[in-house]
Amino acid sequence: MSQDSQLPAGAPIPSDEEQRLCALYEYQVLDTGPEEEFDRITRLCAWLLGVPISFISLVDRDRLCVKSIYGADFTEANRESSLCTHVVGAGQPLIVHDASVDSRFKDAPVVTAEPYLRFYAAAPLLTPEGYSLGTLCIADRAPRRLGNGTLDVLQQLAAVVVDELELRAANRRLHAEQSSAHHKTLELSRLQAELSQAKEEAEQANRAKSEFLAGISHELRTPLNAVLGFAQVLEQDTEGHLTASQARYVEQILKGGRNLLNLIDELLELARIESSRVDLHEQCFEIAPLLSESVHMLEAMAQEYDVTVLNKAGDAAQTVCADRSRVLQLVQNLLTNAIKYNRPGGWVTIEVRSVASVWVRVVVSDSGIGIPVARQRELFHPFNRLGRESTGIEGTGVGLAAAQRLVEQMGGQISFSSEEGVGSVFWVDLPQA
Ligand code: ADP
Repeated sequence: MSQDSQLPAGAPIPSDEEQRLCALYEYQVLDTGPEEEFDRITRLCAWLLGVPISFISLVDRDRLCVKSIYGADFTEANRESSLCTHVVGAGQPLIVHDASVDSRFKDAPVVTAEPYLRFYAAAPLLTPEGYSLGTLCIADRAPRRLGNGTLDVLQQLAAVVVDELELRAANRRLHAEQSSAHHKTLELSRLQAELSQAKEEAEQANRAKSEFLAGISHELRTPLNAVLGFAQVLEQDTEGHLTASQARYVEQILKGGRNLLNLIDELLELARIESSRVDLHEQCFEIAPLLSESVHMLEAMAQEYDVTVLNKAGDAAQTVCADRSRVLQLVQNLLTNAIKYNRPGGWVTIEVRSVASVWVRVVVSDSGIGIPVARQRELFHPFNRLGRESTGIEGTGVGLAAAQRLVEQMGGQISFSSEEGVGSVFWVDLPQA
């Protein structure tokens, strides 16, 4: 037969042998014992093609490993002396009608001893990438000629063997992906648990800090009030015992003491707000009267700083839902800053408008010193007294930090824009009734 003569005489090693072996090992099918899926194919192959023996061989580096065999009983052979090596080497089918008279195979162990093969036909197991893993063979102990279409069926069944191997590999990959996805999900939940624990710990540490601050502020207030009380008695000095310089000292004690008391009060306030211990009494009320009240309360301060405060809200009709006394405190805070961080002859305006029918926005603008861009990010951080060095204006740096937390607890928001040397605009959005 012509195909016999096309084959090389030795047992050729494919040029891509290393890659071929890698592909073979990736299928994880060597030494895995008999399996029904492959046994079914060899059984079917023998029945369909009317031969007594059929087997699937896989060609390893130096051995031939039989994955499934029908009609004979051998599981391994030496690669060098095996007929299948020729099929793998050429990557093409091989047909041997009578091996005992074929110079290449007559001395092969399967020919000279059990099972004494004479007829042999095989198709290579070709992967989609073109690697030849082994063979699907049919054989007989007697010489035979190949029937019409037999080689075609053999090749089709060889393709079924490779399909089965591919299916298993795809399954394995799917499992690997699923298990890696599962691991990722587990890892994610572990991280989430860690995160929420860290958050809980941070919140607890914050609460502890706030409680400590509240405690210590209280302890400071009591003796300080006593100092202020006695200094006030001295200040009155109805009998004129104090010299002029002593009176000045008393004045200094009072001034310093009041500043200190103010700082302690603000600290206490911030600690309360941060530990969410502020009781908010929410109610719906008109904003305009509150703004007039606030401007009125700061008239003396505005005069002292020579700043004109203009209430543009007039009798605006907006109604907000929030804690009234806290909103008053907030507006006072913004107005105080607008007056304090201003210049003699400067102005402050306050106005109100509705935003998207959801918020009532209170806007405080000033013609003051403004805030340098580089410092704007820290504005709501407690104890940040921007530019204190240059302005020398007194304050604690707590007001805006407390204001932001308060507004947020009331369901609103606070923001600002500012230009150094030109002025600032602060606004608070409160829930509209
Ligand atoms: P305090 O006024 O007690 O220092 P605040 O928290 O109210 O604390 O303000 C923080 C800092 O923000 C102030 O020290 C000041 O530097 C800056 N600031 C606040 N409001 C204004 C404003 N209207 N114009 C310029 N700077 C301001």
